[in-house]
Amino acid sequence: MKVGIMGAGQLGRMLALAGYPLGLQCEFLDPNQDSPGGQVGPLISGGFDDRECLARLARDAAVVTFEFENVPMAAMDLLGKCTPVWPPAEALGASQDRLDEKTLFRRLKIPTPEFAAVDGLEDLRRAARRIGLPGILKTRRLGYDGRGQYPLRRLDDIEPAWSLLGKAPLIYEKFIAFSREVSLIGVRSTRGETRFYPLCANTHEAGILRYTTAPYRNAPLQKQAETYLKRLMRHFDYAGVLTVEFFVRRGQLIANEMAPRVHNSGHWTIEGARTSQFENHLRAVLGLPLGDTAAVGHSAMVNFIGTLPAAGNILRLSGVHFHSYGKEPRPNRKLGHCTVTLPSREARDRILRTLLKLRA
Ligand code: ATP
Ligand code: MG
Ligand code: MG
Repeated sequence: MKVGIMGAGQLGRMLALAGYPLGLQCEFLDPNQDSPGGQVGPLISGGFDDRECLARLARDAAVVTFEFENVPMAAMDLLGKCTPVWPPAEALGASQDRLDEKTLFRRLKIPTPEFAAVDGLEDLRRAARRIGLPGILKTRRLGYDGRGQYPLRRLDDIEPAWSLLGKAPLIYEKFIAFSREVSLIGVRSTRGETRFYPLCANTHEAGILRYTTAPYRNAPLQKQAETYLKRLMRHFDYAGVLTVEFFVRRGQLIANEMAPRVHNSGHWTIEGARTSQFENHLRAVLGLPLGDTAAVGHSAMVNFIGTLPAAGNILRLSGVHFHSYGKEPRPNRKLGHCTVTLPSREARDRILRTLLKLRA
């Protein structure tokens, strides 16, 4: 059976690899001919809005999903006319626009940083006055890995922020002085079965996820995060993996953003959970029973960004697995990751410290 995937980045590649043991083949649509996914599965090389390519993908696949967040909504509509598409287009649409996303969080009573739409310099001045400083000005669309963001600390930052980002529709958000960032990865199948992974703790630098540790055990936060994800899943009549990133402040969760797809902070589940996020996503969109989401030990996942260390230097450490995405090195590009899974947190943390030193 074939699963169609919009986008053939590393997330698509890991979906395809998870599909093989299940007898599934993933077929990709992506404009980039030497994408990571295309190295492990058939690739339709074309634009996401190319009607012929979309028709081919829909014809070949029993179900279509996506690993790329900026699939045009018109493509989702077209695909949806010919084949089941999961997660739902409305969830993708909400995640593509930070203003819609945060408006939805607010509507569903999921705490989120105070925000305001910014369509002009005067809006920004007003937002900074009303919401206060520090804050962050973000493009509503197309941002990832912290791109399209400008932190504002003082009133003097307003004009430079505006001149850098002012051409696009924007959102101003209150800066949250968080004690920690966590994410919850949940999965719901087309049959309504729902499971959640344990929370993971995420460390970002300059807006890019550097490393994740899991499980992050905190029963009240786990319960609260699951309640919020269930609300979102019910709202969208969701199927597939859903990730929400949260700030933790004074023991409370504040939702930063959602991703209606498998997520970088869930890469540890390949070795560190009974069933990986990738396998569970495939099971979910195909209506198969979901796999156990329990952690098997203590894991840490470290991203390799810009440069990839030699595999041998990583693999000689006990409990460590290496993943290369087959991408050309470029500054700030995610080229691979590694995961350590060990029985104790202390042993995991020891190896994690070594891995963080080996990154460059
Ligand atoms: P991703 O690659 O996760 O999709 P992104 O480009 O969509 O990232 P965000 O998740 O909004 O960007 O922001 C990246 C990081 O910047 C956050 O993980 C957090 O560390 C910091 N950040 C963003 N918004 C805020 C905020 N309102 N308050 C404090 N820190 C923030
Ligand atoms: Mg994002
Ligand atoms: Mg983020």
